[in-house]
Amino acid sequence: MNSQERRPSGSPQPASSEEGTRDLSSTHVTHVREDVALAGRCANVHLPTGRTCTLPVRHPGSCNFVGPGDADNVAVH
Ligand SMILES: [Zn+2]
Repeated sequence: MNSQERRPSGSPQPASSEEGTRDLSSTHVTHVREDVALAGRCANVHLPTGRTCTLPVRHPGSCNFVGPGDADNVAVH
C-alpha cells in the first residue's frame, strides 16, 4: 500500500558509487616480501599467484616472479 511513499521526485538516479574503480592496472596493488627485500631484491609479490620477484631492487622492466622455493634461496634468513 505505502511501499513507494519515500520516492521524492520519481527519477531513479543511481547514487554516485562508481568511484574507486579507477585502479584498472593490476600493478598498483603490490606486496613486498620483507626477507627478500632485505637481500636487496625487488621482492614484489604477485598476489594472485603468491610468487615473488627476485630481481635486484629498482630493476628495469617488469618483474620476474619465481616460486617460494627460489625466493627462499635469495631471502635473508
Ligand atoms: Zn620486480
